Amino acid sequence: MSHITVTAPASGEIISEVPIFTTDQVTDAFDRSRRAQKKWAASPVSERREILLRYHDLVLERQDELLDVIQKESGKSRISAHEEILDNAITARHYANRAAALLRPKRAKATLPVLTTTHVEHAPIGAVGMISPWNYPLVLAISDAIAAIMAGNTVVLKPDSNTPLTALKAAELLTEAGLPDDVFQVTPGPGSQVGQAIAEQCDFLMFTGSTATGRKLAAIAGERLIGFSAELGGKNPLIVAPDADIARAARGAIRACFSNSGQLCISIERIYVHRDVADQFTREFVDNVKAMRVGPGNDWALDMGSLISAEHHETVSEFVEDAKAQGARVLTGGESLGGNFYAPTVLTDVPPTARVYREEVFGPVVYIQVVDSLDEAVEQANDTDYGLNASIWATPSTGRALASRIEAGTVNVNDGYMAAWASMHAPMGGWKTSGVGRRHSDHGLLKFTEARTVAVQRFMPPTGPEWMDRKQFAGLAAGAFKVAKRILP
Ligand code: NAD
Repeated sequence: MSHITVTAPASGEIISEVPIFTTDQVTDAFDRSRRAQKKWAASPVSERREILLRYHDLVLERQDELLDVIQKESGKSRISAHEEILDNAITARHYANRAAALLRPKRAKATLPVLTTTHVEHAPIGAVGMISPWNYPLVLAISDAIAAIMAGNTVVLKPDSNTPLTALKAAELLTEAGLPDDVFQVTPGPGSQVGQAIAEQCDFLMFTGSTATGRKLAAIAGERLIGFSAELGGKNPLIVAPDADIARAARGAIRACFSNSGQLCISIERIYVHRDVADQFTREFVDNVKAMRVGPGNDWALDMGSLISAEHHETVSEFVEDAKAQGARVLTGGESLGGNFYAPTVLTDVPPTARVYREEVFGPVVYIQVVDSLDEAVEQANDTDYGLNASIWATPSTGRALASRIEAGTVNVNDGYMAAWASMHAPMGGWKTSGVGRRHSDHGLLKFTEARTVAVQRFMPPTGPEWMDRKQFAGLAAGAFKVAKRILP
């Protein structure tokens, strides 16, 4: 097999044949990447900033073109694809404008003030390897790359084989924005071949995908002792408190559960609703789900598109059939809509033995469970091996108090996921088996750097004046330390 056949999931039509990289070609890509990185790292941050800001503009100016490519190869609705445009623009703006401050050497407090002056520098790591999934082919291929590139690294990216065209299109736009050759390279191919070769050759590995693959790649990174960051799966809970605006919660839960047909790592698959408001919430939520518009095409009015493939459609269907066979009730959906389209589905009375109860479906399937107290809701929400995202619908004060008890990287109060995702100054990532490291925030760029501490010593060594008797110095140091313990950090 030397080509990936890219198929439109919504229609089954073959869109393109994309050449697969051989292992030797990946090695060649890393050779070129390392050569390009030396020059790129030497370029002023202000120059990199201008390129990324031009990319920001191009993404917005050419959004229709990009939206068409994203939608065609992923099957998602226009509105879900548009989230990707916004994300790339926000990320490019954020890191373009933030990088200079982050990369500037910073003074660090020294243990011996006056005698020692310490600075921390951040140097790029080198050629960063990235492996991305199919569900957000623009966001997950490009946004972390933007941070790595602004920090002075080069990137070799393997996009998922379902969706290589978006990454290739974005690479064209980066070149058009002025990014020099080989700073960002796209090497399509299967995970077992190209993904593996990237993991074995890169200087830092950034992975987004399933927890199962994340574990395998973490083992390689561990063996090689390279930096590793992973954004993995989730089984995200949503809590509806009795003081919530129920109509708003029932509307907001639609996007929280069914954006991108639920094929979103941070989308909601479990709802815990307080008994006092359970009937009203369930009725209004299910009515809203029934009103959703599902179908193919680029009409902005459509709420949901298709699933990524026939195989994934089968997986989603199996989850629902298993739950039904074990006594779960289908409140709406629970069936295929033909082709790769699956109805947005709400279940209830799901027994803990059903696979959907704990496992990530990664599809348009959510279940509702009624709880008698908010303590029970928190306990249920945290009863998972995952810890990626959570959503709480409540008054802001109740929401904030509950949020602090949730074991997840992001908690959105009166929103599903977007509020935290778009908070670029704050970290985004998973607790427990949902990930290692964070994207967004200062850390999202600094993780692609090595820290170098430079300490300049003046007047005498840190171990005291050379003329001083060693025992005398030990006594002096003990006295000075006691005085300093409540003054110096
Ligand atoms: P996946 O792990 O099967 O594939 C992701 C990428 O890894 C693909 O490019 C694939 O080709 C590659 N890959 C697979 N096996 C590999 C191997 N052995 N070596 C190297 N590369 C390999 O994941 P998927 O099913 O495509 O994506 C869905 C999963 O990703 C879900 O679990 C979802 O929650 C998760 N996800 C997480 C985030 C996040 O930010 N936390 C975002 C999107 C998706």
